[in-house]
Amino acid sequence: MIWNEAKECMSRDEKIVLQGARLVKTVDRVYHSVPFYRKKMQNIGIEPGDIRDITDLEKLPFTTKADLRENYPFGLFAVPQSEIVRIHASSGTTGKATVVGYTRRDLDIWSECVARAFTMAGVSKDDIIQVAYGYGLFTGGLGAHNGAEKLGATVVPMSTGNTKKLTTMMIDFGATAIACTPSYLLHIAETLEENGELDMIKLKVAICGAEPWTENMRKQIEAKLNIHAHDIYGLSEIMGPGVACDCEYHKGLHVYDDHFLPEVIDPDTLLAVAEGELGELVFTTITKEGIPLLRYRTRDLTSISYETCECGRTLPRISRFKGRSDDMLIIRGVNVFPSQVEAALLEMGETSPHYMMIVDRANNLDTLEVQVEVNERFFSDEIKELEKLTKKIEHALQQALGIAAKVKLVEPKSIERSMGKAVRVIDKRKLV
Ligand SMILES: [Zn+2]
Ligand SMILES: [Zn+2]
Repeated sequence: MIWNEAKECMSRDEKIVLQGARLVKTVDRVYHSVPFYRKKMQNIGIEPGDIRDITDLEKLPFTTKADLRENYPFGLFAVPQSEIVRIHASSGTTGKATVVGYTRRDLDIWSECVARAFTMAGVSKDDIIQVAYGYGLFTGGLGAHNGAEKLGATVVPMSTGNTKKLTTMMIDFGATAIACTPSYLLHIAETLEENGELDMIKLKVAICGAEPWTENMRKQIEAKLNIHAHDIYGLSEIMGPGVACDCEYHKGLHVYDDHFLPEVIDPDTLLAVAEGELGELVFTTITKEGIPLLRYRTRDLTSISYETCECGRTLPRISRFKGRSDDMLIIRGVNVFPSQVEAALLEMGETSPHYMMIVDRANNLDTLEVQVEVNERFFSDEIKELEKLTKKIEHALQQALGIAAKVKLVEPKSIERSMGKAVRVIDKRKLV
């Protein structure tokens, strides 16, 4: 099923014309109603009239998360506050929150995009969906909720916090779909398994997002719960969940580029990379009213393909994220992503994807310890066996990361489970 065939299967030529018209309108609007953008454009000597179609996109200035913080709270809004009907905010670990505002029309488009994504994942009005993202200032809960309602599905607003209640209702209501973070879904699966309830559920599909996960983790979730798991992408600065989602072919995430114009750039030169090459994802919102953003640097690393998908959609696809340019750790001068550790662990089979990276510094040298949970069935008390496994994981991590890591095996279920975004890294170097 395709929610909006006219837009999702539009020919590339038609799409480019539509995007161009919307871009011109957006640039004109921000120039005249957001002093921040007017100043930025004046500084580099361009006027709205210089932007005629999407080939002029590269003339425009970039926007960063720091720009949102510096204009806290409403400095980048392009409409009077009376037109704003909803505020969301993401709490940064450093500094002020990033605040975004939505007009009525923004909320409608957001629901439309989430409805497209959920339809792509195989959810329909016949489904009962548990939304187990946090409800509140975080965009996950309400974003998924409104989209699922628009779709006509029966929405159960679980939020996070009570896994027992969630699994009980999953069984009693016969829930067929769930939206939550992938790490929380794994925790739910473990809980069901522990209670011998895995065969009592009617779950068919999960739509997971809000944190990076690997293809292996997706497959593990699918096998454990006997469902299809889809990757939904979004960020509050651009809208929230529903900027992109993968279809039943799981070959990258379709971007709703009639609303969010994507670019992939080299984060150092800031120039576009070729189709299929890895770079930083950048979005220009071309229909947003509340807080339209020009060339917002997401820091997410991916590649893009404009080939028509087997599902018939012409929407471009971005590959599974290779990490975030700001999640990237530099350990002994080497770029390390938590997703590399996860991928290496999942390939082994003896370990679970629950891990914690502890980065520290001893005698001016960076150290990396990876605590890894061992699968129950491999967890034995025989020291010799555990030592062998430790060596094997250390070898796999050395291969994957290009630096040595000390591995510490921990008991199954000893690493704290999160209901929101999983914490994977403790960088003690920053505390000094
Ligand atoms: Zn699948
Ligand atoms: Zn597709």
